[in-house]
Amino acid sequence: MLSVDAYHRPRSLEQALALLAPERAVVAGGTDLLVNPRYMAGVREVVDLGSLPLAFLEVRAGQVRIGANVTMAAVARSPLVRGLADAILSRGAAVCGSPNIRNMATLVGNVAAALPSADTPPPLLALDAWVLLRGPAGARRVALQDFFLGPARADRRPDELIECVEVPVPPPGTAGGFYKVGRTADDIATVNAACVLRVEEGRIVAARVVVGAVAPVPLRVADAEAALLGRAPDEAAVVEAGRLAVAAAQPISDQRASAEHRRHLAGVCATRALRQAAGLAPHGAELAHA
Ligand SMILES: Cc1cc2nc3c(=O)[nH]c(=O)nc-3n(C[C@H](O)[C@H](O)[C@H](O)COP(=O)(O)OP(=O)(O)OC[C@H]3O[C@@H](n4cnc5c(N)ncnc54)[C@H](O)[C@@H]3O)c2cc1C
Repeated sequence: MLSVDAYHRPRSLEQALALLAPERAVVAGGTDLLVNPRYMAGVREVVDLGSLPLAFLEVRAGQVRIGANVTMAAVARSPLVRGLADAILSRGAAVCGSPNIRNMATLVGNVAAALPSADTPPPLLALDAWVLLRGPAGARRVALQDFFLGPARADRRPDELIECVEVPVPPPGTAGGFYKVGRTADDIATVNAACVLRVEEGRIVAARVVVGAVAPVPLRVADAEAALLGRAPDEAAVVEAGRLAVAAAQPISDQRASAEHRRHLAGVCATRALRQAAGLAPHGAELAHA
């Protein structure tokens, strides 16, 4: 049972920012924070973001904006999010834990926790998402690509909160893929992958390939992206990209899988996500158990 000296429930972002202090933990859905004693060491007070007016999910100026209080369940069912590159972000959110977890967990909490195995960062990175941070000095936008610094480390100052994640609406015709391998239906990914492809006149003109849980941060596979450009979206191209994902992976061994198995799965997940985006496989099979 968690025991704290004070529980703060600010009503505005300004009030929340004024409450930030080393001995206070910021909590959104609490699904990472409250089950992990590592986060609560030395914490005497909690700042609960649940009453902030940040439950918006909207399109503004060509960006889908997902506020800090939007749950995984809301992201998974949002028509706006489903409209982005074959719904890769909806599908990442839809396999984040169990229904109970998805009803509490926020997408912003998933990003803020900066875990390399999290399910929404790969689709968000494939979609070139941004993080909007708010601090005493005002707002700051960071490309998600630059936000993750290592396991549970991100480019967020202690006096800042994430207000929302912004996802640029991709050009029409942008295709996507997402694939996750987990030990059970509601486990964190053993490995996951997301990708985006744009094909013009039979050739790939834009590619993003991201693999999760195989490096200290969700891994953008630059070599695979470069190798795909200019090629036809065929089986040979996606298999070659999968091979490059294996080469780029630097996984660790832990209770979920050995490094060797994860390296193999980097290729499996990247190839299967790319097959979906290339129209070589259906989009349904985003979760397999291994
Ligand atoms: C049983 C179980 C299964 C799970 N399965 C999965 C899974 O399959 N895939 C997956 O990706 N994750 C999974 N998770 C992890 C978790 O559900 C997600 O990471 C979740 O999205 C975190 O969101 P939250 O709102 O609960 O964050 P919290 O736990 O409230 O916070 C997480 C971290 O983010 C910080 N934070 C939250 N909001 C902000 C903000 N606005 N600004 C700055 N910092 C902030 C907190 O201070 C904390 O450090 C699972 C968790 C459990 C308990």
